[in-house]
Amino acid sequence: MPEIRKDFLTGQLVAISEERGERPIFYTRGETDTSREQCPFCPENRHMTPDDIYVSDNKRVRVFPNKYPALTDTPRAYGFHEVIIDTPVHSEKLKDFNAGDITTIFLAIQSRLDHHYKNPKIKYIQIIKNEGQNAGASIYHSHWQLFAMDFIPGMQETIRKNLYAYSQKANSCFLCDLINGKNTSKICEDEYFLAYSPYASTCPHMVNITSKSHIGSFRELDAAALTALSHIIKKVLSALDTIVCGLSYNICFQDMPYNEGHFFVQLIPRIGNLAGFELSTGCFINYVLPEKSSGMLKDIIAKANGKDYN
Ligand SMILES: [Zn+2]
Ligand SMILES: [Zn+2]
Repeated sequence: MPEIRKDFLTGQLVAISEERGERPIFYTRGETDTSREQCPFCPENRHMTPDDIYVSDNKRVRVFPNKYPALTDTPRAYGFHEVIIDTPVHSEKLKDFNAGDITTIFLAIQSRLDHHYKNPKIKYIQIIKNEGQNAGASIYHSHWQLFAMDFIPGMQETIRKNLYAYSQKANSCFLCDLINGKNTSKICEDEYFLAYSPYASTCPHMVNITSKSHIGSFRELDAAALTALSHIIKKVLSALDTIVCGLSYNICFQDMPYNEGHFFVQLIPRIGNLAGFELSTGCFINYVLPEKSSGMLKDIIAKANGKDYN
């Protein structure tokens, strides 16, 4: 039976309905692949984009200001909007990168976070990746985006308030309790991170990957933790791709404002589009029970065990 759930961290309401999963779905798997000649993110077309402001030692990752920024160095929408190209290869996708290549991206992101947080006006920085047309990507070539802003967005304020309220009531940390508890929908874990299906996942097969320790910002992760995060993201992306081949998805970093709590990453598969109900109410319909999704992903990862994820 359908069930309305409320996500503890975001306060978002979700209708969990397995029945909805029965209806025929025509997944949009097609991608609009621009040719290399037209691609502004291919190395030979650097003249199409602003100059690089960061290049990794191995030249694989580069960062430049977004040519069409959502935030700019002006009072009405103050901030910085940057593009992070994570591969020089036009058709290479994140799930196929080795873990070392993913760590190179993370080091680039940490460098940019360090740079922007030196600016006292910057209050929050959002890191995202849109992969695939259904996830809002407008350019086929793999990339990430950085948004540095002079305010703390509503979602992050809500997460902070809910974590604080829980700690006052339970005299413990919600995320520590979730990590150490027995009833979470755990998918996989290591010394540094836990991947799990959130209780009120807003869409099928959503995964959160949370730091096990009280590290509130991605900036604070050390080399060993970055390597661990690269491996776990690769594992989960590979498992998601087994469920839906060529999946569109968003990756959203959740830094904790004021560095309280645990940094986490959201992997949000984009199966189907948001429709009128979601847009009018802010209440999502999810036709896959999160605890079933975690079971599926866990099984896929267990079967792949022994396979080298690099
Ligand atoms: Zn390209
Ligand atoms: Zn905690």
